[in-house]
Amino acid sequence: MTSFLLPETIVAHDHDVPLDAVVPPIAQTSLFTFRDYDEMLATYRGELARPVYSRGLNPTVRAFEEKLAQLEGAEDACAFGSGMAAISATVLTFAGPGDRIVALESIYPDAYRFFETLCARFGIQVDYVDGSDPDAVEAALPGARLLYLESPTSWVIEAHDVGALAALARRHGVLSVIDNSWATPIFQQPLGLGVDIVLHSASKYLGGHSDVVAGVIAGPKALVTRVRNEALPYLGGKCSPMDGWLLLRGLRTLPLRMKAHQEAAALIADRLAAHPQVTSVAHPSRLATLPPGLTGWSGLMSFAVSERIHIPRFCNALRLFRLGVSWGGHESLVVPAQVVLSQAAPPNAALAFNMDPRSVRIHVGLEGAEPLWADLSAALDAAAAPSQDTARS
Ligand SMILES: *Cc1c(COP(=O)(O)O)cnc(C)c1O
Repeated sequence: MTSFLLPETIVAHDHDVPLDAVVPPIAQTSLFTFRDYDEMLATYRGELARPVYSRGLNPTVRAFEEKLAQLEGAEDACAFGSGMAAISATVLTFAGPGDRIVALESIYPDAYRFFETLCARFGIQVDYVDGSDPDAVEAALPGARLLYLESPTSWVIEAHDVGALAALARRHGVLSVIDNSWATPIFQQPLGLGVDIVLHSASKYLGGHSDVVAGVIAGPKALVTRVRNEALPYLGGKCSPMDGWLLLRGLRTLPLRMKAHQEAAALIADRLAAHPQVTSVAHPSRLATLPPGLTGWSGLMSFAVSERIHIPRFCNALRLFRLGVSWGGHESLVVPAQVVLSQAAPPNAALAFNMDPRSVRIHVGLEGAEPLWADLSAALDAAAAPSQDTARS
């Protein structure tokens, strides 16, 4: 399709749906039978493209893949049973024993743990660099196989110049991959910035209702086909039909939801920054200018509080923000850095170093900006120790 479509237009319509149903049915089936011997033979010979078994092609999952590819401006997409399945299949398709990967420091903690455990066992070495230092990134690239990016990052919320980093990778013949879960294609289309493969935890904004765990990659057909054929069938982390259907439904409101997250997050970030007990706010809405290619922001941010705020009491006083990991759904969430830093399997050393122990990460959901601010501000009040002067009087 050559005509320019808005994201709103892409997500609204489905094509070739049986019975012209507005909502496509769920192909909730593990296998697809053949009418006769010849049809089976032609399919096995590759002369006929049709579903055989749902670990390979499933029409519901395929409909989601096609829509996501359109949103990312990609030739093709491939969906997985989780974001980590998408990450591991992609990395293991393009890197093998003796290869080196360059990854950014503050990436998603389980991506880091995957690099440090399975990748290390398979003889893949990973070097970590600061994404805000292009010279350091470039110095690490010669001889590398893969540049693994995440921007904006989802724990310390740093936005990098993705186009510049992708250009460095290209100059050194290194394949670039980016985790675009935070921005979604609504606010950042990395392929247009020169990145080779974009991936998502679809469990976050793409699903958008906190009822799906899934992942997806998008990019040029040749690269997506390699992941689809070389890693997905054997690692087996395929997106299920039901989840594909829920993702199609989630996408319908993605452009609307992202605008609502953006608006509420800007208000919350501004109010937090003006609060006397808040010492810093990490959210792209606070930047004087956004990095090139990032056209908006989502609802995930972090902020640090002064010593006067008792963080456990703050978390317990919140009513609308609930304690929980993940993000990207309709609901507002809070995660205190102190808890993350004391977990048994801590995040990578650089991320831990970059995390302010006085900070909390919040996801600004869709409950309405003013009620959410009222909740945060009441909880800050409830958690504030009396000031020195008041205490003495
Ligand atoms: C959640 C998350 C992942 C992993 O996705 P799952 O669907 O939980 O496997 C990857 N990257 C980021 C940035 C995430 O937040």
